[in-house]
Amino acid sequence: MRGYAAVLEAFRRPLAWREFEVLPPTPGGVLVRIAVAGICGSDLHMWKGEDPRTPLPIILGHEAVGRVVALGGEKRDIMGQILREGDLIAWDRGVTCGACYYCTVRKKPYLCPHRRVYGINLSSAEPPHLLGGYAEYIHLLPGTNVLILPEGIDPAQLVAASCSGATAAHAVEASGIRLGDQVIVQGPGPLGLFALAFAVARGAATAIVVGTQRSAWKLEVARRFGATHLMMADVGTAESRRAEIHALTYGRGATQVIECSGAPAAIAEGIKWVAPGGVYALPGAAVPVGDVPIAIYEDVVRKNVRLQGTWVSDTSHFFQAVELVLSGRFPFDAMITHRFPLHEADRALQALEERNVLKAVLVPES
Ligand SMILES: [Zn+2]
Ligand SMILES: [Zn+2]
Repeated sequence: MRGYAAVLEAFRRPLAWREFEVLPPTPGGVLVRIAVAGICGSDLHMWKGEDPRTPLPIILGHEAVGRVVALGGEKRDIMGQILREGDLIAWDRGVTCGACYYCTVRKKPYLCPHRRVYGINLSSAEPPHLLGGYAEYIHLLPGTNVLILPEGIDPAQLVAASCSGATAAHAVEASGIRLGDQVIVQGPGPLGLFALAFAVARGAATAIVVGTQRSAWKLEVARRFGATHLMMADVGTAESRRAEIHALTYGRGATQVIECSGAPAAIAEGIKWVAPGGVYALPGAAVPVGDVPIAIYEDVVRKNVRLQGTWVSDTSHFFQAVELVLSGRFPFDAMITHRFPLHEADRALQALEERNVLKAVLVPES
């Protein structure tokens, strides 16, 4: 059997359309035919060579949903169900070792130094080659945590659950959002919409989503996800925006601010929006963004604010994100704005670069 993939062979160059021999699944592994793969903002950073983890050549794509083609032995999903050929499945994009200090003692597997991530740090140079989402098939390695999905849902809605959804779950959980809290989400992209949905699901009373004039249409999607207020980061002054935030939060600021834009200027301003005793979580800065000036005394120490770095996610977060989508409480179908056939992956990355995309997906069979 042979299968096609779009391969990143040189940074900032068109992806190469390559044919691979599809090897049988490795012992303990799963061969999957990809139904839909997501294009993530990190893919664009990787394509430009901005992510220090990127080996070449690589098949990009760390978010996908697909159907089991063959199994390298009995395998169960995280709910204990036995996988069968034809099952629609999603999986945790990271495979951790389970044996290191971070996996065992600290119980923070997202910090595992041996974490292997499909489409991010697994090259297509070595067998079984097909280890990224921009492809017709993907090999899931032994140790991959998978979840069988129900039939009848558009699988495109679930691709982002394995990356931005899981990372948002991690950030919201670490921020400790509770019933009645006043939350700000900076950045109305997929990460921000997931963070918003988790905050609303946890009972946030106020959910302010901050975008830009250019992304105003994304803010309208955020409103459909339950945002109580929308704000423009590029309208008014830093002082007027802070006053606006304070007017919406009893004069205190937000109990949690979830930074989902990754923009240094947004980080510098957003830290000032946290209420005393609150949390500033940073899931959005997924590639190096340089130094950000912080008034340590005024904005952190004097207010007892917690800065919560948020690096990727673990299987519990992936599970929460899938459950959130499957709950049907939020219009995740509205997040999928673009669908491209697999061989047009370059066009999809281009569309993301132009920032008129909320979520683009690749569909191999179209
Ligand atoms: Zn991603
Ligand atoms: Zn480990």
